[in-house]
Amino acid sequence: MNGITVALSKGRIFEETLPLLAAAGIVPSENPEQSRKLIIGTNRPDVRVVIVRASDVPTYVQYGAADLGIAGKDVLIEHGGTGLYQPLDLKIAKCRMCVAAPDGFDYAAAVCRGARLRVATKYIQTAREHFAAKGVHVDLIKLYGSMELAPLAGLADAIVDLVSSGGTLKANNLVEVEEIMAISSRLVVNQASLKMKRALLQPVIDSFAGAVK
Ligand code: ATP
Ligand code: MG
Repeated sequence: MNGITVALSKGRIFEETLPLLAAAGIVPSENPEQSRKLIIGTNRPDVRVVIVRASDVPTYVQYGAADLGIAGKDVLIEHGGTGLYQPLDLKIAKCRMCVAAPDGFDYAAAVCRGARLRVATKYIQTAREHFAAKGVHVDLIKLYGSMELAPLAGLADAIVDLVSSGGTLKANNLVEVEEIMAISSRLVVNQASLKMKRALLQPVIDSFAGAVK
């Protein structure tokens, strides 16, 4: 591909990326929410957008199937970042990674006692590093979604998940017991593309940088 391919996930990242693309003079010709197309053209013949699962964005960029992508810090930590240049925090799709437990579960006391906690999460790397740094013994249970259910169903004592408003936790009688880190989305660039296509990519990166709030 001679032009630029940008990997985006639909939903909040696509929506919040539109103003950044606009700052670079790029306007996608369709909304993936309506069109179901996975390859979307833009007003620029040399720029296209591919719609992938949020957690697949780093993989597309790593292998050069996309030159650019936008992915959450959560996703980048789990991926590991191999082959990716990460020039910009775009400050979009902001939320936080936290530990949550059922209202009434004395998390601090369990940690103090040195109890072995069962923690369910989609974010195994993040959770492993967090608890290892604190010296807390955990059994991590990998889930792919609906983490909030795990403590309610007796699968785990606590979860590690993303929270923004806290509404989902509250609706399931869970409370945030620890913040692990603030999360936002980053621009990721294939390292080989940056060398080979710098004339095309650098102006886009610079426009994004100028448009970050
Ligand atoms: P999928 O829904 O396909 O399983 P996903 O849940 O990772 O994937 P999204 O829900 O679109 O995909 O989230 C994309 C990114 O947006 C996440 O990787 C994270 O960085 C960020 N994000 C997730 N939840 C929130 C939230 N509640 N508020 C703000 N940003 C969020
Ligand atoms: Mg989701």
